[in-house]
Amino acid sequence: MLKEEAYSRILELRGILEENSRRYYVDNAPTMSDYEYDQLMHELEALEADFPEFASADSPTSKVGSDLETSSESSGREFVQRPHRYPMLSLGNTYSIAEVEEFSARADRTLGTSFSYCCELKFDGTAICLTYRNGRLVQALTRGDGIVGDDVTRNALQISNVPRVLKGDYPEEFEIRGEVLMPYDAFDKLNALRALDDEQPFANPRNAASGSLKLANPDEVAMRGLWCTLYHIPAQSLDFESHDEALRAAESWGLPVSHDRRLCRNISEIKDFIDYWDVHRKDLPFATDGVVIKINEMAYQRALGFTSKSPRWAVAYKFKAEQAITPVLSIDYQVGRTGAITPVANLEPVLLSGTMVKRATLVNEDQIRMLDIHEGDYVYVEKGGEIIPKITAVDLSRRKPGARVPSFPSVCPDCGTPLVRAEDEAKWFCPNSDGCPMQIKGELLHFCSRKAMDILAGEATIDQLFSLGIARTPADLYDLKPVQLLGMDGWKEKSITRFLSSIEKSKVVPFERVLFALGIRYVGETTAKTVARYFGSLDSVAQADEDALKQVPDIGNVCARSIYEYFRDKKHMDEIDRLRAHGLNFSLEQSASATSSDALAGKTIVISGTFAHSRDELKALVEKHGGKSSGSVSGKTSFLLAGEKPGPEKIRKCEELGIPVISEEDFFSMIPHETVPGRIENASFSQLSLF
Ligand code: NAD
Repeated sequence: MLKEEAYSRILELRGILEENSRRYYVDNAPTMSDYEYDQLMHELEALEADFPEFASADSPTSKVGSDLETSSESSGREFVQRPHRYPMLSLGNTYSIAEVEEFSARADRTLGTSFSYCCELKFDGTAICLTYRNGRLVQALTRGDGIVGDDVTRNALQISNVPRVLKGDYPEEFEIRGEVLMPYDAFDKLNALRALDDEQPFANPRNAASGSLKLANPDEVAMRGLWCTLYHIPAQSLDFESHDEALRAAESWGLPVSHDRRLCRNISEIKDFIDYWDVHRKDLPFATDGVVIKINEMAYQRALGFTSKSPRWAVAYKFKAEQAITPVLSIDYQVGRTGAITPVANLEPVLLSGTMVKRATLVNEDQIRMLDIHEGDYVYVEKGGEIIPKITAVDLSRRKPGARVPSFPSVCPDCGTPLVRAEDEAKWFCPNSDGCPMQIKGELLHFCSRKAMDILAGEATIDQLFSLGIARTPADLYDLKPVQLLGMDGWKEKSITRFLSSIEKSKVVPFERVLFALGIRYVGETTAKTVARYFGSLDSVAQADEDALKQVPDIGNVCARSIYEYFRDKKHMDEIDRLRAHGLNFSLEQSASATSSDALAGKTIVISGTFAHSRDELKALVEKHGGKSSGSVSGKTSFLLAGEKPGPEKIRKCEELGIPVISEEDFFSMIPHETVPGRIENASFSQLSLF
């Protein structure tokens, strides 16, 4: 390969890997399988080895994929970031036994003496680092970028098998690392709930675990059914002879350590362990994606040391994704909200990695050609890294004689407009964005979704609004009157009130979510947040040229161009004017003032008991309105906000000091009406006076 060619491929691979790393670690919504990602990473490693002049400390090959929230200096983060005492690294990985043999031979050569291996399951969750001091859990950090992690201590305390307090003869202070997992049954339950809420399901239990550990509200974390397993005490943290001994000690202190590990003396025992778990991992109640082979003796681990990204004394052997074979019954061509056409195969249902698979994406026309799929073919279905299923190959031996090649539509299956495909696009598009019903409904649905404006409208509601001709664009929603909705199937006064209230309530949704709701291509939730925080207002985003947009951290050329073009379209600007007239938040400043006041300035408030709203929500309200919340009653307390079953000691102290005790409702009456969560929702039909 020529030098220039290599350089350009290196840059391309770095770009693809960075982008997919962000989708995986930060958005928890990967679009590529782990296998594909790993193949690209190995290609980059090989190129950088062949052309060392292009190596860079900033390359994805030299650093750990970061789960830290990306946000600008001035913006608030959900989690405080704290440094790791010892770097928290990744693992070298391979899908080939020959490379495991190489790993073992290399260790043999370097150490020049006999040693043992500790083989463990590779748990497919999200890494965590726990610190115990005097037997109490004092800190839990995510891996972050390996140097600093997000402090998720309050959330880790909600994981049922993470002990708050240790037993036995534990050391004064130490660190222990492991994985937070979401077992399959909790994962299925969570996705079923998300489907009811019209929320995008998590692609796999790993993403669900990682997303759950980063929730702002610990009470919600408690309901997610997370589970933890611990597998590593850093050698610098405590002095043990061997890794296995350290794990046995950890178990004796009450920490959750897996028994599914084995000490091996040679490569043949390692292979037995791998073969056993390649079969039996399917019986485990949680996801694993391989096994980890570690040199067991701590002295040898120290001798081998680390690269900038991973220890030299361990390697992960990853299992190839599980496959199943099943016939294609038919192919649907779906029209997305951006007009992109995605072929989806309807399959004869088949069991794969614990779930019944009925449909699989065929991605685009090129993919259908590449796979050479014919109607009725038996196909191999795979869940790469347990992600949404994909067809990977056709079983040609079972093809029926005369089977035809499916014809990709030339017109939109929904509105009949001829499809177009730009040179640099892999997909066909329906260009009729103003008239194609699927696109219009898709945009409305996206606008209403929970992470956008959180308006109570699912597919059925949007379908009805659209077919009655009363909503075609988001701004139309804000013009709706109850009388227009009375004719809708199954709608009564109560449902109309709830729906219109949610529209009204959406006017206080913060600017970054409004920006996401607009549905600009390539602007997902995280990008919208970053752009909103960088520019501060919609007008500034709209005025920015492509170069200015490219300055925003993590915004690539394609995304910058898409944002630029969006705001150059008169139709979009007219819609924005209408939304502005309805009072939506178009700047960070406006969002802040829409939800804050100084109604509680100078007041110190203690919250105790259980409430209709979560305690975190109440605390946030106290702060937003200028008050301070405190954990204990003292002479400085202004009042006690008491829910059901408040602490008896707190009540007694209030009585003693003559401090007023107030209810949740009393509290809400002290702050501006529109800032109370769900307050507009509870207004009556006539109060809305929208006729
Ligand atoms: P990794 O998941 O391959 O391996 C390292 C991690 O394994 C550790 O950080 C630890 O959390 C975990 N682990 C589980 N069991 C363990 C055990 N018994 N001992 C030690 N560690 C154990 O590496 P990574 O850096 O977390 O992630 C990189 C991988 O993530 C890539 O190889 C790829 O497969 C995947 N990825 C996928 C995409 C995508 O788009 N699909 C994007 C980025 C990363």
